[in-house]
Amino acid sequence: MAISRVIRKSFNICAFILLMSIHSISVASPHVSILQYHHVSETTPDITSITPTKFVEHLEYLSEHHTVVSLEDVEESIKQKKALPEFAVAITFDDGYKNILENAHPLLKQYGYAYTVFINPAQIGSSPSQLTWEEVKQMSKEGVTFANHTVDHAHLLEMLENESESDWLARVKRDVEMAETIITQQVGYSRKWLAYPFGEFDGRLKNMLSEMGYLAFGQQSGAAAWYVDLQGLPRFPASGRYADLNSLKTKLRSLAMPVIKKTPNDPKVKLNTSSLAVSLVVDTQDFLPDRFACYYLGDKMDVSIQPVSKSKLAAHELINEKAVLHNFAFSINRKFNPGRSRVNCTAPSLTRGGRFYWYSLPFFTATAQGTYPD
Ligand SMILES: [Zn+2]
Repeated sequence: MAISRVIRKSFNICAFILLMSIHSISVASPHVSILQYHHVSETTPDITSITPTKFVEHLEYLSEHHTVVSLEDVEESIKQKKALPEFAVAITFDDGYKNILENAHPLLKQYGYAYTVFINPAQIGSSPSQLTWEEVKQMSKEGVTFANHTVDHAHLLEMLENESESDWLARVKRDVEMAETIITQQVGYSRKWLAYPFGEFDGRLKNMLSEMGYLAFGQQSGAAAWYVDLQGLPRFPASGRYADLNSLKTKLRSLAMPVIKKTPNDPKVKLNTSSLAVSLVVDTQDFLPDRFACYYLGDKMDVSIQPVSKSKLAAHELINEKAVLHNFAFSINRKFNPGRSRVNCTAPSLTRGGRFYWYSLPFFTATAQGTYPD
């Protein structure tokens, strides 16, 4: 009797420990996939739209397989290195179209999902396709978060004629601050989140926004976590051809690639560059280095792999002390034309079956006149 009780008790303790360890593996996750939508409509341009029918499919899939978190939860997680639920997803919209209110808002409310809309104050109420400030305020009261997409959606990397670098930065700073002030006056809060128009940024902008205390979001794909670039946070576009749920499933389940260093560090690439050396120092603790693969415009890159000694890095640069580092290097031998392009790199996780680390390195190339195409 006494023995069986002891056995039962120790069994219970074992089960408890096992449960706790499963709990810590399955719940303590820093990873989150942030989705980026624009229009939810059947009548708007395909490339930036998802139909209401498809959008419902996304929401239904999320409700079955994921936990939708707010961008406030994401901010807390990345600033405090706090765990998010496993399979966390956040929902964002850019540009403040009225069809968000008409077609997406009722559905998101029905599912009880928090979401964020990045708006351009100069556009709000400027045409029938845009939300009005009254609508923004009403949605805000219903729990929608509104954040900064600059005053009027200009290409931030474009400099005016004869503008010095410091004048350019000061002008962009004024723009971001003005947009934030107007949004704050209307909705009563200031999140200090910026979505870069067209997803375009460079190192100087990122530094300035970091000093200003902003989180900033791009349009390059990848999962986010506390160790990613907080002024170049990735989002997965989910409109147009990216709305296809089958290809989106892998992205929704993806993990933030632990990139320690990247070259080039700045995404601006000069026009007509014909060869660009890229290297990434990555913590490979949770994947086999030879499973790391990168693609540029559909081409698989020929990646060379070198172990990197931790002693070469300062302690604060490492994501954790158990880090195992490898340098992945390759060369993009294609001519860079004006516009946006990116390298996508993935590697399958060893501990989270069927899930991939995902990282995207964006490049922005200006025309000979210094402008950036839409
Ligand atoms: Zn936009």
